[in-house]
Amino acid sequence: MTATYITTTLPYVNARPHIGHALELVQADVLARYHRGRGDAVRFQTGTDDNSLKNVLAAGAAGVGVREFVDRNADAFQALGGTLSLTVDDFIRTSRDPRHRPGVEAFWRACSADLYPQRYTGLYCTGCEQFYTQAELRDGRCPEHETEPELVNEENWFFRLSRYAAPLREAISTGRLRIEPAGRRNEVLALIDGGLADFSVSRPAMRAGGWGIPVPGDPDQVVYVWFDALCNYVTALGYGQDGEAHGEAYRRWWAGPGNRVHLLGKGVLRFHAVYWPAMLLASGQPLPTGIFVHDYLTAGGRKISKSGAGAPALDPGALGPGALEPAALAAEYGTDAVRWWLLREVPRVGDADFTVERLVARADDELANGLGNLVNRVVAMIHRYRDGRVPSGPGGPVAPGGERLAASCRQAGDAAGDALEKFDFRQATAAVWSIVDEANRFVNGSRPWELAGTGPGGDPRLLDAVLAQLLDACAVLCRELAPFLPDATARVAAQITPGGDGRLPVPRPVFRRLAPNRDES
Ligand SMILES: [Zn+2]
Repeated sequence: MTATYITTTLPYVNARPHIGHALELVQADVLARYHRGRGDAVRFQTGTDDNSLKNVLAAGAAGVGVREFVDRNADAFQALGGTLSLTVDDFIRTSRDPRHRPGVEAFWRACSADLYPQRYTGLYCTGCEQFYTQAELRDGRCPEHETEPELVNEENWFFRLSRYAAPLREAISTGRLRIEPAGRRNEVLALIDGGLADFSVSRPAMRAGGWGIPVPGDPDQVVYVWFDALCNYVTALGYGQDGEAHGEAYRRWWAGPGNRVHLLGKGVLRFHAVYWPAMLLASGQPLPTGIFVHDYLTAGGRKISKSGAGAPALDPGALGPGALEPAALAAEYGTDAVRWWLLREVPRVGDADFTVERLVARADDELANGLGNLVNRVVAMIHRYRDGRVPSGPGGPVAPGGERLAASCRQAGDAAGDALEKFDFRQATAAVWSIVDEANRFVNGSRPWELAGTGPGGDPRLLDAVLAQLLDACAVLCRELAPFLPDATARVAAQITPGGDGRLPVPRPVFRRLAPNRDES
């Protein structure tokens, strides 16, 4: 049984979650469900990055204590598990989880041969929690936040990243550490070829407001939030527990032969594809096997930013209260509709623009009119023509168009699997969706209402075959869509499974229509 460990990045909790956070969580959940369905042992982990200076500043701006502020927002992130129907196995909070701090301390000590103190002057963006060189700035401003970085002069601990250029290049170019999409892999290779400068891995405790994990043996410094946060991928597995043995979960999920897959947004590529693997090499640990990088969502054409980061970004309130909050969207339009938009419309490469109108249109077109209508029609016909009893078949005659539907049912699983191996969620959903299109075509082409008649077109055996094949297509859809639409497929399964009396339940809509009825307006 292959062990597959899937993680998301840990969002800062300087504000409540928005739809952009939901993207990565839903993508990770689909992979976790898909791998479980294939029989893999899966561990899906997410959490929150509590120890950020940004959180300290945001709490100050809100006039709330850091602990209370961080806890409140972290709770909102944790609640997304229910809101989005996520199958999270482990949720780590870096400021509260008892596994984390001893793990970070052990990690730090394991890197000690590559750590050295140095006085440093640099331009620091608190929004990014990173130093920038002049060349990396755009008109003197942070390229992510468009704010002017702060000039900082302080003594920090540095990590000897420069030593790891060759082994990193080797791991990435051979695919031992696979980075997808290819454009992102090339970006990382270019970064490595451009020369890797050592980076600072601590901050004066004073500047961090005392928030964070003290550097082992140097309590005037706290561990740089990125060093701290990246460690979560192994501290939650018990790295640093039981001394060198590192806990059973670590041995199974990290040190074993399985998959170790990180999902992340393009803005934190350097941390995950350069710093993190170098930290792992320095501490003598295996590398991740895969890194999947998604692009960003915009909302109504504008960048989504959390408050406090200082960027001239969209005010979430401008779209109406809670319009960008996953919990509010799911409450209003349903979890299926939110998941479906994220999976079906966001491309593998390139940003995607979110609007409520697009979410509603996609859900009504495909979920209500496509899948929902198909299931409803099939169940209704089985009730009308066969008293709710599932006709026997297949094996009987095949109606015109039946071959194409059968082929699409046979191929959809493999095609979706291939797409998911490439982290292409849009292609994966399209592959399964071909069944819905074929099945609806098959209904129209085979004309069951004529087969059911007593006239010259009547053919009860062919009608049985058509109904059996359609019901089978619904069952295949149920199975193949389960990783993407777990709630909806559970409802479809209930509709197409005979009860104790051997009859299907009375047909009832699987999806409600979200847009106001045009006829009424
Ligand atoms: Zn920034």
